[in-house]
Amino acid sequence: MTKVGETVLEIDLRALEHNYHYLRSKINSSTKFLGVVKAFAYGSDSVVIAKKLESLGADYLAVAYTSEGVALRNAGIKLPILVLHPQQVSFTMLIEKCLEPCLYSRTIFSSFIKLAKELDQKNYPVHLKFNTGLNRLGFGERDIEFIARSLEGADQIKISSLFSHLAASEDLNEKDFTIAQIQLFEKISSQLIAKLNYRPLRHTLNTSGIINYPESQYDMVRSGIGIYGFGNEASEDEKLIPVATLKTIISQLHKIEPNESVGYNRAFVSNTSKVTATLPLGHADGIGRQYGNRVGQVAVNGKLAPIIGNVCMDMIMVDATGINCEEGDEVIIFGKKPSAEFLASSAKTITYELLTGISQRVKRIYID
Ligand SMILES: *Cc1c(COP(=O)(O)O)cnc(C)c1O
Repeated sequence: MTKVGETVLEIDLRALEHNYHYLRSKINSSTKFLGVVKAFAYGSDSVVIAKKLESLGADYLAVAYTSEGVALRNAGIKLPILVLHPQQVSFTMLIEKCLEPCLYSRTIFSSFIKLAKELDQKNYPVHLKFNTGLNRLGFGERDIEFIARSLEGADQIKISSLFSHLAASEDLNEKDFTIAQIQLFEKISSQLIAKLNYRPLRHTLNTSGIINYPESQYDMVRSGIGIYGFGNEASEDEKLIPVATLKTIISQLHKIEPNESVGYNRAFVSNTSKVTATLPLGHADGIGRQYGNRVGQVAVNGKLAPIIGNVCMDMIMVDATGINCEEGDEVIIFGKKPSAEFLASSAKTITYELLTGISQRVKRIYID
């Protein structure tokens, strides 16, 4: 392993390629694949990931906000980009950059049609989202008449897809609920399609949906966490490869004596002699305070070392007692082993939060 000399997030594009092919192998070859690259591609760098997905043959990309889509277009990404949660204030920019909005309420739907008219658009691609139980964003069954009526004579827009989002696709205890969501989606989408003289795509599966409900893949699937190497269950994690490795180095080693304390507010007081290692990353880099005080562990030369005391803004201290190490040695915060899942679950959170929280201060480097 090459020494990096500072805190970096290493992005392994070969792992992304592996995960993409693995997830594709779970679905029919004719089913389209949408790669979710919101939130800087789950912390990895949306432009680099989007380019790789484009080269791998993905059919669609999705971001949460218009600004994220604009960044991709400015970097030359040509794939269709679905904006999952566009705000009305950014609609003009969205059209300018050929981004495709998710329309999820009467208000946003009408205001988009109005703008598309003003801007002389024809058949502008839009996606309609239906709420089938998540109760976050989406039209309901009762909105179908309204949508159909609004579309009469409105050739400014064309519906590219109808979709919904599952609330608990990773939790097999909620199988009945998930199946009811899928059935409701089937019902609503069929009703609307019967009123159109063309056939939009339909999609409802996220990563855990692909794994647990592949029979409901419809025309497209949307994967985020899976392409980054996590399947929300141990048996799937084994088949996927984490794309991101957060590594750093030992800035300084200290020998401390019994009764000495470490870090702010003396949160750790030692009762034995110890060796501590100070690492150059802290809560400003995305390692939140919840990982302090022996909750989180990192790997120093392959051995687990708990974080001791409070997490500082720019540093953490770990217990390196008994570990053969020197200043300058590399430390793995998470990666292939120990994984982000291991660290996230130690603080009762999820990989999604840990990965997307790695701040932009951390330099990204790439392996391809
Ligand atoms: C974020 C998101 C996804 C991706 O979910 P994963 O669990 O990361 O695969 C899919 N669809 C929608 C609507 C989302 O918001």
